Formats: sequence, structure tokens, C-alpha cells
Amino acid sequence: MSGAILDVRGLDAFYGPIQALFGLDFAVPAGGVTALLGANGAGKTTTLRALSGLVRRTGDIRLRGRPIAGLSTEAIARLGVAHVPDGRGTFTDLTVDENLRLGAHVRSDRSAARRDLDRVFGYFPRLAERRRQQAGTLSGGEQQMLAISRALMMRPALLMLDEPSFGLAPLVVADIFRILAAINRDDGVAMLIVEQNAALALDLADEAVLIETGRTALSGAAQRLRADDAVRRAYLGY
Ligand code: ATP
Repeated sequence: MSGAILDVRGLDAFYGPIQALFGLDFAVPAGGVTALLGANGAGKTTTLRALSGLVRRTGDIRLRGRPIAGLSTEAIARLGVAHVPDGRGTFTDLTVDENLRLGAHVRSDRSAARRDLDRVFGYFPRLAERRRQQAGTLSGGEQQMLAISRALMMRPALLMLDEPSFGLAPLVVADIFRILAAINRDDGVAMLIVEQNAALALDLADEAVLIETGRTALSGAAQRLRADDAVRRAYLGY
């Protein structure tokens, strides 16, 4: 796909001898949002982990046209791919501030990192009020905000989010998705988002991919998937 920040062709992934992904094809448009949908165990988390180099994978993965399938996790992060894992992965014993400073560690320019801290607190003022609080004492929603903020400190070109709504109250989820939309719109950060809440994900996304047992079952414009009868019945509940 031309104009894609991420282009994935024939992605296979393996846990030891077990193959979990079988030739996935999809793209994330430059400055756009792609949603990965699918039932439990379909392979959504594995897809993000394969792209980050956390599980063994083969296939053609291109970031701005550059092949990255052979690169290490660290090298992929340095190229601008930030991964917010499920379970959030914040350091619970460290403060909000300390977590955010760690997020900036792959960047060398310290004054730019300070500006980014202000930008992140602009999106998430609740975190600014809790700068010195230990991350482990934050609410679930605040911890998710911190995980997203930490990833933003890397100034990513592509933000990969694994179930940002998981375990959170509907109002908090709505808040987080509103902020994600603003980050995408105002900062042009492209996103690849795994989400059980298909309705929310399809609202945010430009493109969507439905994964079934590790394979691409359907992909295309988010609007088209939203209108698809099978997607509606299985994932939207109407
Ligand atoms: P969920 O929404 O339940 O997290 P998912 O779509 O993210 O589902 P994955 O977690 O990617 O699904 O799992 C895809 C497949 O890979 C499943 O069959 C799962 O059992 C398998 N799998 C995941 N992690 C491992 C692992 N560490 N070792 C072996 N198999 C794994």
C-alpha cells in the first residue's frame, strides 16, 4: 500500500514450534489508525508482539518502506515504533515522573524531552497532578494514561496499543479514546490498536483488520467493516 507508514505482508509468528500467525496482510496509513479486531486467542496481541520483535516472526514488515522484520526490539523502537503492551507495563515502584523519564530514554535531546513532558501533561492533566505519586497507586485508568504517555515520550511515528480499554469503566475508556483521537489528529501519530471493544475501535480507526485463528479474515476501511453483517453480529452485537 502506498502512503502506508507500516506495511505488513505474509506475517507468520511462532511460539517455539507452535505457529500463531499465518500470512497476515495489512497496513497502517501514514497518519492514520488501523484497528485489529478478533475473538480471544485470534492472534491480536501476538501481531503487536511480532511487529515489535518480541516473538519469532517471518514475513515482510516495512516501516516507511524500510524492511524491519530482521531488526531487534530496541532497533524497532528507535525507528519510532512505541508499544503499549496489555497489562500496561509501567514501573509500579517508580513515580509518574520517573516512568515518563524512562520513556524518553531512547532519545538524546533532553530539552526536547522536557517539552514532550509538557505536551504529554497537556493531554493527560490528571497525570500532571500526580507527578510524584507511585505508579502502582494510580487508578487503572491513570495507569493506562501513564503507559500511553510513556510511549509518547519516545515521539513515536507509530503507536501500538494493546487493549487500552481493558478493565476500565466506560467513562474512563471514553476519555482515553477521546485523547487518543486528539493525539492522532493534532500530532499526526499513526496508531495500530488492538481492542475488544470493536465499536470504539472502529470509531477511532480509518482501517480495520479482522483476525481469525491467526489469519486475515477481512480488512479494509473501518466504515466498511462496521457495515459488514458478520462483523456486526459477532463484534458489534446488533
Ligand atoms: P486475547 O484477546 O485473548 O488476548 P489475542 O487475539 O490477543 O487474544 P493472542 O494472545 O495473540 O490472541 O494469542 C494467539 C494464539 O497464540 C493463541 O492460540 C494463544 O494460545 C497462543 N499464544 C499466545 N502466547 C503464547 C505463548 N507465550 N506460548 C504459546 N502460545 C501462545
